[in-house]
Amino acid sequence: MLSYRHAFHAGNPPDVFKHCILVHCLDHLRRKERPFLVVDTHAGAGSYALETGYAAQNREWEGGIGRLRRLEKIAPEALPPLVGRYLEAASSCLTGAADKGFPATYPGSPSLIHRFLRERDRGVFFELHPTDFALLEEQFKGKKRITLRKEDSFTGLKSLLPPPERRACVFMDPSYELEEDYPAVKTALEEALRRFSTGLYITWYPLLAGTGKGGADFADSLMALYGGNRCRVELRHGCERQRGLRGSGLIIYNPPWTLKAALEEGMDNLAELFTPNRGMWELAWQAASAKTERAE
Ligand code: SAM
Repeated sequence: MLSYRHAFHAGNPPDVFKHCILVHCLDHLRRKERPFLVVDTHAGAGSYALETGYAAQNREWEGGIGRLRRLEKIAPEALPPLVGRYLEAASSCLTGAADKGFPATYPGSPSLIHRFLRERDRGVFFELHPTDFALLEEQFKGKKRITLRKEDSFTGLKSLLPPPERRACVFMDPSYELEEDYPAVKTALEEALRRFSTGLYITWYPLLAGTGKGGADFADSLMALYGGNRCRVELRHGCERQRGLRGSGLIIYNPPWTLKAALEEGMDNLAELFTPNRGMWELAWQAASAKTERAE
């Protein structure tokens, strides 16, 4: 039985970090007219009230979106695009929802993804937890472009690939609550790449202190899984209230060509904001060998 509830962690530094990069990638997909599919393999509840319920208990968000709020008074154009664009998208994606809007309500990945879909695009969101799935159903009721699936995405993802649109982004953001999640991520990505190697894949992983789980070896193995353009970006933030988690990373297959410059310009800002004097980030960018098929 799953006990992880993302509401406890919504808006913390790892959340904001991954969402900034997700927004950059979604923006990039919209540059072309052709339709695309976005799959959120681990959707969570969709959006989160920060001042009530689980998020208000440990207030992890104070170190993440709470600090970013301070930048709200600055015009988004004055911030590095990675951060400014995220803030702009986050504040616009909850309007009309039955909530108090951003930043009192924090948009999870499904809310951000929905914000970027055009009439011709599709979103498929997987979520296993019954309570979070019910919240997703409530938020996306009547939204024609969204399909919700209450099933194990590690096995369900392959049924969507290759997509008829031939353009897709897969956002894989497991809780790693179960030890089996690590091999399951690898197997699901292997299978997905076999079926659809030109997709944009974004996979989150934790950097855990002293457990031997996650971290460098796991990230290395994900980098080795694919021979095309790929990158790995890590942010060490030392989120004291989340025991053991000293940072997190993303492995991105077929990243948008614009991402490198955006990270180089914007990550210092995030690192400094989340951990003054200690913030640190790293980027490893690996280009495809000449023979590897190029993503669009
Ligand atoms: N992506 C969300 C966001 O950015 O707002 C947060 C997702 S949270 C880290 C991970 C979620 O995956 C949890 O809500 C958990 O219930 C769900 N989950 C865990 N294992 C799953 C599986 N095998 N298939 C689908 N959902 C799963």
